[in-house]
Amino acid sequence: MPCYRCGARQTDPVRGASPWRRGVRRETQVLVCPDCQRLHDLDLDTCAGCGSVALICRLGEVECRSCGAVRMAETPAPVDSGALLASGPPPGLSAEVEAALNRVLGRT
Ligand SMILES: [Zn+2]
Ligand SMILES: [Zn+2]
Repeated sequence: MPCYRCGARQTDPVRGASPWRRGVRRETQVLVCPDCQRLHDLDLDTCAGCGSVALICRLGEVECRSCGAVRMAETPAPVDSGALLASGPPPGLSAEVEAALNRVLGRT
């Protein structure tokens, strides 16, 4: 996963902890490269409890690695096209279509 901000690729950490920082931005897990970590406009989500940006997002939950608080990730409601199709055409349309057909067929 590249840095979300500058797109830099993460190089394999030689030894020890990676200098890259994991965070959550708009409910999405992101990585921040060491260069971008120095910036102050990272626009990362913060923990509501302690204000930390050390969050991890997984399985629809966002967990704070500083205080351990877990909250549900706010995912936008998916558009359910199946329900849209199941509801069928708006009421009245079929009658209009039938009337138009009747006109065409000269049945009025
Ligand atoms: Zn970067
Ligand atoms: Zn926290």
